[in-house]
Amino acid sequence: MTRSSEILIVGGGVIGLACAYELQRAGRQVRMLEAGRIGSGSSHGNCGTLTPSHAEPLAVPGVIAKALRWMLKPDAPLYIAPRFDPALWRWLWNFSRRCNARDCRSATHARYALLDTSRALIEQLVREHSLDCEFADDGVLHVFADPRERDAMFAALPQLREIGIVAEAWDAATIAMNEPSLREGLAGGVLFPGDASLRPDRYVAELARLAREAGCELVEDCAVLGFRRERGRIVGIDTTQGPQRGVDVLIATGAWSPMLARQLGFALPIQPGKGYSITWDAQRAPPRRPLALKERSVCVTAWGSGFRLGSTMEFSGYDSTLNRARLDALERAAGEYMREPPTGARREEWYGWRPMTWDDLPILGRAPGSDNLWLATGHGMLGVSMSMVTGRLLADLMTAREPIVDPAPYSAMRFQ
Ligand SMILES: Cc1cc2nc3c(=O)[nH]c(=O)nc-3n(C[C@H](O)[C@H](O)[C@H](O)COP(=O)(O)OP(=O)(O)OC[C@H]3O[C@@H](n4cnc5c(N)ncnc54)[C@H](O)[C@@H]3O)c2cc1C
Repeated sequence: MTRSSEILIVGGGVIGLACAYELQRAGRQVRMLEAGRIGSGSSHGNCGTLTPSHAEPLAVPGVIAKALRWMLKPDAPLYIAPRFDPALWRWLWNFSRRCNARDCRSATHARYALLDTSRALIEQLVREHSLDCEFADDGVLHVFADPRERDAMFAALPQLREIGIVAEAWDAATIAMNEPSLREGLAGGVLFPGDASLRPDRYVAELARLAREAGCELVEDCAVLGFRRERGRIVGIDTTQGPQRGVDVLIATGAWSPMLARQLGFALPIQPGKGYSITWDAQRAPPRRPLALKERSVCVTAWGSGFRLGSTMEFSGYDSTLNRARLDALERAAGEYMREPPTGARREEWYGWRPMTWDDLPILGRAPGSDNLWLATGHGMLGVSMSMVTGRLLADLMTAREPIVDPAPYSAMRFQ
């Protein structure tokens, strides 16, 4: 039997859920199809920071030289597994062409528009619906061990302030006074008081609750296998639970999106950027706010319910093994900056595939070639941070409302 709904959303991560909630609130009837369990993809074990301060893209001038140095070390923050993969090489080539001041500036503005709006929407949602997701608005502290790295960051602060990012430069003494969980002798830091954090698995569970309460149907263990098209429209979807029909179809499958796009006849330049995390029970003397250990690119997040080290970026295709060297690197990095190593029960070792575009901008809006096909994907390292603005923007575009932000920079047409 074919099941029908007004909107079919494919993918039940933080992005699919935010879109489901906002579209249902906008008066459309939504059914969301998730191949596994809701929130089991990249949205599960990430670091949960909400960071307008991360407006700058990965492609900045000088990053290629740094990446080449890192590539020689299998436990470095960035690792590219050597293998024959023309799609990855094309991606890296396009990425390298973006490492210039002009592209970096325009991406920074486009990312900040999403991040800043989303940060406000998430806090509003959390407070309005008393979401149980350990939201904290104490900012994020970037910490430097190397004075040269600290000085480079201090020098970049005026540019960040220009676009509206508030930043406080902390010297070693201020760090020692305000963050007792850190070792003595660090070079300094930068506090971004506008950043926030939450526990991502709980946020996802709460978004699913809100979506269901609003009337969405969330279907688990329902993988999309293929699409049926007629005269430029999707007229049906084949799934592991039988055929489905929708007036509109929205793809929100994160790092898996290129596979579905290929079936639909277009290419999406998204690579899985694999990251890792380790989660412990709550610690005795946790940091007061999330920390970014800058030279090691490791994020430390402490909630009342747990403690997590996360990050690293590995381009190894859809490899699903837990790489011990990269997990160990997280703990080693923490040992370099923090007074006490994490102790007690280790609850989870995890990896997730970030959906990375080479311009570090998500892909939001109409898909090429079909009147009723939409995309919300490619959020890279910041899908949680950008979740609510993505939901609101897609609801605006799909219901012909005034868009909350200018959608032009995120259009899929930039790759055509
Ligand atoms: C280590 C790490 C740390 C991170 N830290 C942060 C952070 O601090 N702050 C932040 O903002 N972001 C962070 N991120 C990034 C963030 O996790 C991602 O950007 C975000 O989760 C992407 O969400 P998504 O919904 O697009 O993808 P996903 O959560 O991966 O969801 C996609 C879903 O689609 C489903 N799917 C795939 N194919 C099909 C199909 N054929 N049919 C049906 N369903 C399908 C999958 O099962 C999956 O559940 C981090 C990521 C990692 C890996």
